[in-house]
Amino acid sequence: MAVTALLVDGLTVRFGSFRAIDDLSLAIDYGEVRAVIGPNGAGKTTLLDVISGITRPKEGRVIFDATGGSANVTFDVTTRSESAIARAGIRRKFQKPSVFEGLSVRQHIAIGADAGFRRRLDEPALEDRISEVMETVGLTEHADRLAGELGHGQKQWLEIGMVLASDPKVLMLDEPVAGLTDEETERTAALVRRLNRPDRAIVVVEHDMDFVERIADRVTVLHEGRTLFEGPMDKVRADAGVIEVYLGR
Ligand code: ADP
Repeated sequence: MAVTALLVDGLTVRFGSFRAIDDLSLAIDYGEVRAVIGPNGAGKTTLLDVISGITRPKEGRVIFDATGGSANVTFDVTTRSESAIARAGIRRKFQKPSVFEGLSVRQHIAIGADAGFRRRLDEPALEDRISEVMETVGLTEHADRLAGELGHGQKQWLEIGMVLASDPKVLMLDEPVAGLTDEETERTAALVRRLNRPDRAIVVVEHDMDFVERIADRVTVLHEGRTLFEGPMDKVRADAGVIEVYLGR
């Protein structure tokens, strides 16, 4: 049976009297790639903000089950700090690339790897991890280039690499293909599928529906802070309600 990585339970987030998230419940399993889609203002970013500890809900919980790792704990992320959540293995790549222009690709991945472990990895293990991550994200041949010299797609992969270097249990990607070419989008889709593992949950917010179809095992469609539909992408595309509020516009 699938193990739930994140259980969102009765979540409500208000900004003033406005409910950005409205009594939302959903479960994301280990081993799946879950896309979260929906029109602008649906609450997608707010949901990621709650899971990362940036935004506190008015009501509800988000239970994280850190199974399989050294820290075998279940806790409510809404009671924890951003840094505690990150240390527990919930990591996020934000929408806008924010690399350090003057640092090399290798240095970026090293920063990501270091940040991921409470005890520093010894040097050979760290080097192995850096090499492995650069290979995975396709930047090995650019290891010594400065991030400022990379193209937009390469910067996105570098940021995914930084997050990946910490060996996350939950990996959240916020619009990973916004502004990418078709070929870069294709490469990113293949990368996301490569990152999928039985002991990891991947959550992707994205507007590019062809990309979503390629990567997602299941799709959650949000609308006005609630789940409008949940299922595989072919069912999502065929749903009258989803077409009305999102796909058909
Ligand atoms: P999405 O990511 O799906 O486009 P968001 O989660 O960013 O949606 O926003 C959901 C709603 O909450 C929007 O109507 C947005 O204007 C509102 N909202 C988000 N953050 C704040 C905030 N800090 N203060 C007030 N309203 C906010």
